[in-house]
Parts: sequence; C-alpha cells; structure tokens
Amino acid sequence: MPRIAYVNGRYLPHRDAAVHIEDRGYQFADGVYEVCEVAHGNLMDATRHLDRLDRSLRELRIGWPMHRSALVMVMREVVTRNRVRSGLVYVQVTRGVASRDFVFPENVAPSLVVTAKKVDPGAAARRAETGIKVITLPENRWERVDIKSVGLLPNVLAKQSAKEAGAHEAWFVDTEGNVKEGGSSNAWIVTKDGRLITRPAEFGILRGITRTTLFDVAEKLGLTIEERGFSVAEAKAAREAFISSATTIAMPVVEIDGTPVANGYPGSVVQSLRQAFFDVAEKTPA
Ligand code: PMP
Repeated sequence: MPRIAYVNGRYLPHRDAAVHIEDRGYQFADGVYEVCEVAHGNLMDATRHLDRLDRSLRELRIGWPMHRSALVMVMREVVTRNRVRSGLVYVQVTRGVASRDFVFPENVAPSLVVTAKKVDPGAAARRAETGIKVITLPENRWERVDIKSVGLLPNVLAKQSAKEAGAHEAWFVDTEGNVKEGGSSNAWIVTKDGRLITRPAEFGILRGITRTTLFDVAEKLGLTIEERGFSVAEAKAAREAFISSATTIAMPVVEIDGTPVANGYPGSVVQSLRQAFFDVAEKTPA
C-alpha cells in the first residue's frame, strides 16, 4: 500500500505528491509546520499543536489554509489512510506559490501539506531504556525560534554534528553558557532534590507542546518544576537530564559532551514522566 499525502486539496500517493517550484516554502523557508504524535491510533495533544500553529501563522501573517476543524479532519484522514496507529502526522503551511520576490505576494492562497508516518513504538521505548547522548554547540539561530518555521538549517547542521559525534541530539548554548534547547527538542534537568528545571519559553526557544503537557504530568505526579536557565556544567552534575518532543516524549540523556550524567544510566523521574504521559495528554481518535 503506497503512503498517501494530502497536498492542497488532494490525497495522493507520495510519488505523485508535489508542490510547485515557486512555493515560498521551497524558495524562502517562508512557512511553518507542526509534528503531532500518533499513539494507539490517537492524535496526541492536537488542540495544543493547532494553537501553536495558529500562533506561528499569525506571527508570520500567513492565513489559515482551511478552517481549523477541517484541518483536524485532514490530519485524521491522512493518519487513517496510512494506517498509522503509532507514529506522527506532519502539517506544513507555507505562504503559497508566487513569482520569486522577497515581499509578501498579494492574493495568494497558503499551501498545505499533511503527511503521516509509522514509527515503531518499541524503538523509542528501547532507546529510553539506555538513554541518549547529547553534544553542545553555540547558539547560531535567529531570535524568533519561538515560531515553528521550516527554516531549520542550523538545526540540520547541529543534529548532523551530533550524529557524527555518536550522539543523538545537539543542545544550543547561549553566550552565558546556559542550555537553550535541542535541535528538535526541549532540554530539562532534575536536581539532586528532585526538582525539574527547564528554561522559560517566553523567548529564545520553542514552547514545546510536550514540554507544556509535561507540566501537567509533573503536577499529577506531585513534582515541582522550576523554569530557569541551567548551565552545561549544572546539567553534567545533575541527578538526571532529559529531552522532550512529540516524537521522543521524555527521553533520558545519559551523556553530555562525553561526560556521563550521574551514573550514566536513565533516572527514575524521567521514566515516571514517560509512563504517565499518555494518560495525561489529550487524545483525539483518528
Ligand atoms: N524545540 C525545537 C527546536 C523543536 O524542533 C521541537 C520539536 N518540534 C521541540 C523543541 C519540541 O517541541 P514539541 O514538544 O512540540 O515536539
């Protein structure tokens, strides 16, 4: 069965699904996206993902490609047509197709692409049992990383560097030596007295949906979260470290720049957050 994509009003096999060469997403990275987890046949946290899509679109003054409720229908349809029970759904909206010019085109409809992908649920679970390694790199992105734009070249280069170093994620570090976030995830630590620390999301990082839902999970588990910056040194000396994203949920970090975190094994706090996540997150049956 071929994978099916939604492109500007049509459901097409991937090999036939294409956007125009003058799509502004292709030429200027003039677009935004969302990645929503699919677990046990449910879209996870769809409301929060669509709220963030709305914010990204408004910040860039791109219109909605269709009514919000219609987009949810398309997401569910793409998930169903691809028989995804566990995986992700990807939504991309660009400013649309126009003759190449930097300024916004007038009267152009936004482009919409929705795809879905199966992911083996066991793979992330197995990885969480051993944890991942991260490297750190100086922040080199623009200031508006709170917008989930498709302009991800620094993230691509950072994650490639991580891979070449035998690691799974790269953490961007600000000029004060504090960890900002990963190339595709938010960063967290657990202090010796069991408090969760994560950087405030007002500016300078993406407000991860998983990050937001982990606040709810932490409350349910009676854990305290402190929103503040933390240095690379503090992370290396922490009781636990982990990343969060829609595709990894809460994933233990066991090594930072070659230094083991604590005893080099995943800790219990991140494991309990992982376990409680599915129950707490919003579920929309596909
Ligand atoms: N930061 C960045 C830079 C990301 O790309 C992502 C993944 N989309 C996240 C954080 C985590 O966000 P979410 O929990 O919504 O997946």
